[in-house]
Amino acid sequence: MSPTSITWLLIIGATVIAIIAQIRVSSAFKRFSRVRTLRGLTGAEVATLILRDAGIGDVQVRRTESWLGDHYDPSKKVLCLSPGVYDSESVAAVGIAAHECGHAIQHKNAYWPLQVRMTVVPVTMIASQLLPFVVIGGFWFGIMGFITLGIFVYAALTAFQLITLPVEFDASRRAKQILRESGVVVADEAEGVSKVLNAAAWTYVAAFLSALTHLLHLLAIRNRN
Ligand SMILES: [Zn+2]
Repeated sequence: MSPTSITWLLIIGATVIAIIAQIRVSSAFKRFSRVRTLRGLTGAEVATLILRDAGIGDVQVRRTESWLGDHYDPSKKVLCLSPGVYDSESVAAVGIAAHECGHAIQHKNAYWPLQVRMTVVPVTMIASQLLPFVVIGGFWFGIMGFITLGIFVYAALTAFQLITLPVEFDASRRAKQILRESGVVVADEAEGVSKVLNAAAWTYVAAFLSALTHLLHLLAIRNRN
C-alpha cells in the first residue's frame, strides 16, 4: 500500500471515530437528561454551588441558547450553560455543569495545559480562517504553496487539539470528584455522569486524530513531490 492510501485510510478511520463519538455523546446526553438527580439541583445551581465552594467569586454563570454549547470562557470569566443544562435537574446537566466548573477551577489554579491552550487560541483562529484556501488550493488543486501552508495550519490545529486533551480530561476528573464529594450525586447517578463525560471526551480524541491525519496526509503529498 502506498503512503497516500495509508493516510487516506487513517483519515477515513478518524472520520468514522468522530461520527461514532458524536452519536455516543448525543445518545448519552439524551439518555441521562431524562434521569433526574435525587438532590434535584439544576445545572445552574450546581455550577453556582461548585464555584462558591472553590472560592471563585468573579465567574458569572450564564444561559446560552445553543444546544450543547456549554463552555467556560476564560477571557471573559463566563460559564455558559445551554438551556438543557442550565434549567435541568438531570444527571447529564449536573455532569456538564460540573465539568465547565472544572475549567473555571483550572483557570483559578493556573493549570498549565489550560494556560498553553489559551495562548494557542489566537493562532488556531488564524489557522481556521486559512483552512478553505488549504482545502481548495492544496487538497483539490495540489498547488505546492498551499500544501506547505496546510502543513503549518494543520500542525497548529493538531497542537491545539493535543493540548485540549489534558484540559478536558482533567476538567471531567475534577467534575466527577466534586460531584461525589459534595453529595450532589449519589452512586448510580455518578455512573451516569461518568458515561456522559466519557462520551464527550471521545469527541476531543476524535478531533485530535482528525487534525493529525490531515497533517500526515499533507506531509505525504509533500514528500512525494
Ligand atoms: Zn470542557
